[in-house]
Parts: sequence; C-alpha cells; structure tokens
Amino acid sequence: MHGARARPKPWPNGPKIDPLLKPGATIGILGGGQLARMLALAAAPLGLRCHVYSPEKNSCAFDVVHAGTCAPYEDEAALGRFAGAVDVITYEFENVPAKTAAFLARRKPVLPDPQVLETTQDRLAEKKFISGLKIATAPFAPVHSAMQLAEAAAAVGLPAVLKTRQLGYDGKGQARIAKGGDAVAAWRSVHNAPCILEGFIDFEREVSVVAARARDGKVECFEITENEHRDHILKISRVPAKVTPALAAEARRIATRIAKAFDYVGVLAVEMFVVRKGQRRRLLVNEIAPRVHNSGHWTIDGASVSQFEQHIRAVAGLPLAKPLRLGRRVEMVNLIGTEVNDAARWLTVPGASVHIYGKGEARAGRKMGHVTRVWPA
Ligand code: AMP
Repeated sequence: MHGARARPKPWPNGPKIDPLLKPGATIGILGGGQLARMLALAAAPLGLRCHVYSPEKNSCAFDVVHAGTCAPYEDEAALGRFAGAVDVITYEFENVPAKTAAFLARRKPVLPDPQVLETTQDRLAEKKFISGLKIATAPFAPVHSAMQLAEAAAAVGLPAVLKTRQLGYDGKGQARIAKGGDAVAAWRSVHNAPCILEGFIDFEREVSVVAARARDGKVECFEITENEHRDHILKISRVPAKVTPALAAEARRIATRIAKAFDYVGVLAVEMFVVRKGQRRRLLVNEIAPRVHNSGHWTIDGASVSQFEQHIRAVAGLPLAKPLRLGRRVEMVNLIGTEVNDAARWLTVPGASVHIYGKGEARAGRKMGHVTRVWPA
C-alpha cells in the first residue's frame, strides 16, 4: 500500500464528517441529565463546546453548557435549529426516538450511528445480536402473550426474569418468576407488554467493561469494573474487580467485538455476569449501554482519562487516550435519593471526590450524585 493515502470513511447517514473538530466547535447532546452534564464538563478542557437538547426545562446539564434547547424530541423546527448550531451530535441515553435520530442524521453526523439504537432499545434484538456474535447470554425467549410465556418458561426454565423489551432501566419493567411461581401475575405486572423471559442467573458477581472506539476503529477499554446493585440500582463500583487477568482479558475482548460489530464510535458499556462452575468462571453478557455509563463514573477521578473525555474525543475525531488507573484501588458510590443531603461529609475524607448533579428534588431511587474514593498506590 505504498503511497496510498488513508481516505476518510464515507459517513453512512449522509453528510461527510469533518475528521477533526477544532477548538471552538460544538457537540450537540441529546438528553440533559447527569451524563450530558459530565460530558460537557469533559469537553471544556479540549476547547469544545456543548449544546444540550432536552425536553425538560430543569435538566441539570443546562447549568454547565454553552447552549441549550428545551423542546420536545418531535419538534422538527427546534431539531433543525439545533442541527444547524452544532458540528456533530451525540446522545446520553438509548431511548432517543428513532424518528428524531433519523431527522438529525440527515442534517449532521450522529455518533454513535443511530442504527445502534434500534438494537439496544429492544432487549430481544439486543440479545439476538449478542448471541449472533457467539457471545454467551442468559437463556432467553420472546414473550408476546400469556400462552407464549408458558412456552418460554419451559424453554428457559424457572426461576426466570420477565423483562419488557422496551423502556426498562434500573429494574423497571421487570418481574421475577420463582420456581413454581405465578407466571401470569408476572405477566400482568408488566402490563402485558412485549417481553423477553430470561433464565435467572445465579451469578458470583456483576462486572462491566466501558470501552471507547474511535472513528479509525481503535478501541481502548477501561479496566473491568465490579458492580454492586441495591434494589436493582447500581450502588457501588469497584476497581480492580475480583477477577483473574484471563477473565478480565476475555471481558475486554467481548466488549471490543461488540463495538466492532456495531462499527461503533464513542463509549459503550457492556454489563456482564460472572458465573462460577466448580473452579471455572465464565462471562454472560446481560446488557449493552450505547453511551457513557454509571459504572464508568470512577474514571473521572480514578483514571488518567475519564469515560466522558474518551467519548468526546471519539465523536470529535480526536485520538483516544490509553487509560491508566490512578491509585491502588478506586470505589464509586452513588448518592441515591436523600443520601445526597449528607454529601458534605465526604468533602473532608482523604481521597474522596464529590459529584452532585444539581437535579433538584431528591426522589427515592433517583441518582443525585456520586462520590469516588481513590486509595493511593
Ligand atoms: P437489567 O435492567 O437487565 O440491567 O437488570 C438489572 C439488574 O437485575 C442486573 O444488574 C442484575 O442484578 C439483575 N438481573 C437482570 N437480569 C438477570 C438475570 N437474568 N438473572 C439474574 N439477575 C438478573
């Protein structure tokens, strides 16, 4: 290939992408929650501006951005103005309406490519996609009726978890069915919505890999993170995770394969279960999040580059950093609901960094902030 010049990849959705955003350029972000807020804070040191689009006027990301648009995702006039004001568009949540993403993609590059959303918005499509890559998941079967639920239960076995195919997060839209349990009650509790039934996994631990993929296809994974949930909500993330180097390498390989298969640009997280069988351990993929992820928040204070900066770099066409952990161990604790009211007690704890999202009302189950502790090496 002597003399061959690397040619920029044509942008699949339409407009050609400027290979590199220059300082002063603006990244549009769909969604105005804490993830958008932390993305904007990470963009600033690179000289990049952010413009957040959110239908909610109290969005906490509006506090820290160069510009904001408060309008519904269906408002094409507002979307058009937003697209006109930014250089590239990304998103902080996977439930961006398909029509919104398509409308914007005709006007400006949207990264990661919205085709990723079609897969990750639907648990059935997502599970099929993962198994199509020959990556193990919990056994699963589609459920569209009470009758099909009985067939699914026979196929995957009980106990099992019934999950709505769409719009489920933090355990919402999920019902557990015990061995000999009442499947019909579970079906009713998810309001007869299209579901998948997943075999209940008796996992040893939960882990995740946050990976960044650049426009040139280079991938950088953060260290595998161990996650502890309470009431289905992430409570604590820890690094290093208690896994062998071989299992950690396997987890990174899985995340890398998924990112490649999507031709992904940006940060994505892959949640996995570690399952023990005798002395052997294997990984089952639970879920893909096509965005920065709560289990990567520790990287702001605990790594040489944060997941937020990696995402900004990727969508801006900048090279990725090779992340290094700072400290012997790092722990991130979510401040959920009223826990945020005593966040001040962390301010004087050595090695602790406090992040409060400025979200207003501290409702039960609402992620209001987090604290990261770094233990020096
Ligand atoms: P999800 O919304 O799929 O991320 O599920 C939220 C949490 O529920 C996970 O982090 C697990 O703790 C638990 N969970 C989900 N699916 C299963 C499963 N098939 N078996 C056991 N626990 C599960």
